[in-house]
Amino acid sequence: MAERASEPIIEVRGLHKHYPLTRGIVFKKQVGEVRAVDGVDLDLFPGETLGIVGESGCGKSTLARMLVHLERPSSGEIRYKGEDITKLSGRALKAVRRNIQMVFQDPYTSLNPRMTVGDIIGEPYEIHPEVAPKGSRRQRVQELLDVVGLNPEYINRYPHQFSGGQRQRIGIARGLALRPEIIVADEPVSALDVSVQAQVINLLDRLQKDFSLSYVFIAHDLSIVRHISDRVGVMYLGRIVEIGREEEIYEHPTHPYTQALLSAVPVPDPDARAHRTRVILSGDVPSPTSIPSGCRFRTRCWKARERCALEVPELAVPEVFRLSEGPAKHDSACHFAEEKRVVPTDDTTP
Ligand code: ADP
Ligand code: MG
Repeated sequence: MAERASEPIIEVRGLHKHYPLTRGIVFKKQVGEVRAVDGVDLDLFPGETLGIVGESGCGKSTLARMLVHLERPSSGEIRYKGEDITKLSGRALKAVRRNIQMVFQDPYTSLNPRMTVGDIIGEPYEIHPEVAPKGSRRQRVQELLDVVGLNPEYINRYPHQFSGGQRQRIGIARGLALRPEIIVADEPVSALDVSVQAQVINLLDRLQKDFSLSYVFIAHDLSIVRHISDRVGVMYLGRIVEIGREEEIYEHPTHPYTQALLSAVPVPDPDARAHRTRVILSGDVPSPTSIPSGCRFRTRCWKARERCALEVPELAVPEVFRLSEGPAKHDSACHFAEEKRVVPTDDTTP
């Protein structure tokens, strides 16, 4: 794990993205809103990997798109080295965007099938010609291919000539082309075969060390982010409900939702399996168009009491921790947070 500098490279405060919910095709009428991201605070420290996990639809990709400025927030701030980048435009924005790049989820749809690999990886230089003068681009792209473990001679091939894992390497090479400081990887291995996932994660791990990158690594599965993350944030319905150092989240989760997610992760060791109880969450995730009052997890929580419907449980403000000891060791947005590996359930099958 990289030794952290004390100042975060990214600080997210009160971030929201609400989409209008409309009805009708010709006469569009707003009938509500989708609260895709609904109050996210987080810090990213130089050289670290912050894993973000949560079920499909909880707002992970929306958060990612805002971080790389593909989408503007409805409200809130994203500070990069202390400066709020959500209000930047023109050259200042372009300079910042160069430093924060994205790796997309699906290498089958995110690469233009009509472009050669060389053109795909070199495309960012069209927008940022100052990074690589025209005469040097081919060489740079070949170097990038080599860096991600692909044969530089493949530069003139097309995406369909590569496997899923190789395509994701192409996506990663493209993300690295501008030598960013931060990579936001949105489920970069979810579309890949299990056998290939570890290879791509190992590659990302090595690149992080070689190029001193900071990562936001998004996944819907807790087991995928564990080995690459220094810290992990758990998202539910547009908010982070628990965040902490990797070992804290996995060994001592305190939010009932995290406990439930972890209880669904397969445990290979039969002894360990015998010592835990599975939590079966009741009901489905509520729609982000009608988020429950108070604690948004309460409708599925076995601990919920009256207070949970009335009061929103908050995470402590990250700044409080920064002054003392770097990022918060562990923090949970639950009125009744407690460490518990075994929880009551009807289903006791391991
Ligand atoms: P995740 O990546 O965790 O699966 P998303 O960020 O893709 O979640 O989506 C969060 C919620 O926001 C979902 O309910 C999704 O349908 C909704 N959403 C995402 N993008 C848009 C959009 N452009 N317009 C309307 N709703 C959207
Ligand atoms: Mg997504």
